[in-house]
Amino acid sequence: MWIKALDKLLTRMKSCGFDFSRVKALSGSGQQHGSVFWRKGAAQTLRSLDPDLDLSQNLQDSFSVQDSPVWMDSSCRPQCDALERAAGGALTLAQITGSRAYERFTGNQICKVFQTRPEEFKLTERISLVSSFAASLFLGRFAPIDLSDGCGMNLLDLSQSDWSELCLNACAPGLRPLLAAPVPSSSVLGPVCSYLVTRFGFSERCSVVAFTGDNPASLAGMRLKPGDIAVSLGTSDTVFLWLQFPRPALEGHVFINPVDPQHHMALLCFKNGSLARERVRDESGGSWSHFSSALTDTPLGNHGNIGFYFDVLEILPAAVGVHRFDAHNNKVSSFPAHTEVRALVEGQFLSKRLHAEKLGYTIVPGTRVLATGGASSNPQILQVLSDVFNAPVYTIDSSNSTCLGSAYRALHGLLAESGVSFSDAVKKGSEPKLAATPDPEAKQVYDEMLKRFAQLEDRVLLESRPQD
Ligand code: ADP
Repeated sequence: MWIKALDKLLTRMKSCGFDFSRVKALSGSGQQHGSVFWRKGAAQTLRSLDPDLDLSQNLQDSFSVQDSPVWMDSSCRPQCDALERAAGGALTLAQITGSRAYERFTGNQICKVFQTRPEEFKLTERISLVSSFAASLFLGRFAPIDLSDGCGMNLLDLSQSDWSELCLNACAPGLRPLLAAPVPSSSVLGPVCSYLVTRFGFSERCSVVAFTGDNPASLAGMRLKPGDIAVSLGTSDTVFLWLQFPRPALEGHVFINPVDPQHHMALLCFKNGSLARERVRDESGGSWSHFSSALTDTPLGNHGNIGFYFDVLEILPAAVGVHRFDAHNNKVSSFPAHTEVRALVEGQFLSKRLHAEKLGYTIVPGTRVLATGGASSNPQILQVLSDVFNAPVYTIDSSNSTCLGSAYRALHGLLAESGVSFSDAVKKGSEPKLAATPDPEAKQVYDEMLKRFAQLEDRVLLESRPQD
C-alpha cells in the first residue's frame, strides 16, 4: 500500500509537469513506530530496480512480513513487561531509551514477530522503520534508521547514540545486523537511485537526506529552538519540548533531537484537550465569547481555586473524573461558571508545565511558547498560556508541518556538511506571530500555584485509581 502510494504520487507529479531535475535534495517522514520486514534478497532487488515497472511491481516479493506492525497495534504487553524486567525496571528502561516500554514501540513489536512468527523472522534480511523504508525506495538500497525516529523503538541508548546491547538482546538474538547502525538525522545518505533518474527525470546529483518520524519532522517544521515549547491545542493537546538536559521519566517520551543530535526533544500527550474545553463552554454560556469573557473577568490564580477535568481517562496523569479544590485544598463539588472556565484552562496549562518540568524542561529568559491547533485562535486562552509559562506566546501555522519539516531538513542536510546550523539554514521561513505576553504578576502567582497543583495532582491520582 505504501509503495503503491509513492508510485501514484510520483506518477501524478510527473503528469502535472513537475520538473524533478531541479530537486537538489529530498527528505521525508514516516508515521512513528511502524516497521517493515524486508525479505532476504531485497537488497539485490533494490539495487536493480527495472525502470519499466512500478516500484510496487519491482518489490512485490521483497517482504518477509506482509502486514507491517504500526503504532495502533497494542498487542505486545508481555514483550513490554519482559523488556522492562530485563532492563531492571520501567524507570531504568526510560533512562536508557527515553521511554518506558510501550506496546506501539518498535522493539516490542519486533520481539513479538520473533516469538510468534519465527519462520518469517528467519527470512528477514533487514528491518526498517516506516521512515527509513521510504528513504530506501529513493536510495535504491537499505537506508539507515535516523537517531531521532530510532528513539521510538525502546532499543536505542540515548547516551550512546547507538543501539543498547541490553535491549537488543532482550528483544531478539542477532538483531544488530538486521537494524544496522543508526545515523544522525541530518545525514546525507547518498544520491537518488538510477531508477528514479531514468523513470522520473531526477538529477543524478539529487541527495537523499535521512528520513525521520512524523513527530520529529513536525518539530523541524515548527522550527523549534533551544528552550522553546510548542503547544498544540487540538482535539487532544500535545506538547513538544526542546530539551538540553533531559530527565527521562515514567511518563512522556524523550527523543534525540532531529535538527541537533547534541540536544533532545520530548513529546507529551494530553487526551482531555478541546473536547473538555467545549463541554465547559457549553455548560457556561455555550459560546467561545462567553468562555473568553470568563477568562477576562477572573483574576490570575483564580482566587486559589484549582480544577482537574478528565472527562476521559487522561494519559498525563493516568486519572479520570472532575476534581475541584478551593484555596484551602478542600474538595468542592462545583465552582461558579466563570471560576470553572478559568480553573479548566489554568489547570490544563499548569499540567503541561508540570509534566514538561518533570522531563527536565526549564523556562529560561528567551523561552518562547509556540501555539498551534484550533484553540490557538482564542487570544484569551493564549493569555492564560502566556501567564502560566511566564513567557511570550507566538502562534504558528503548523498545518503540514511534517512535510515542511522534511523540506527544511533536506535543505539543512545539504548545508550541514559545511557547518551551517538548522536555524541558519531555515531562517528565511515565515516568522511566528506574537500573540500574548505575560502579566508582570504571573511569575509569582503561577510558581506558587504549580507547587500546590503538583500536590493536588498526586492526591487526584491516588483517589481516582481504579479499585482492585
Ligand atoms: P484536530 O486535533 O482535530 O486537528 P484542531 O487543531 O483543528 O483539532 O482544533 C479543533 C478544536 O479547536 C475544536 O475542537 C474546537 O474546540 C477548538 N476551537 C476552535 N475555535 C476555538 C476558539 N475560538 N476557542 C477555543 N477553542 C476553539
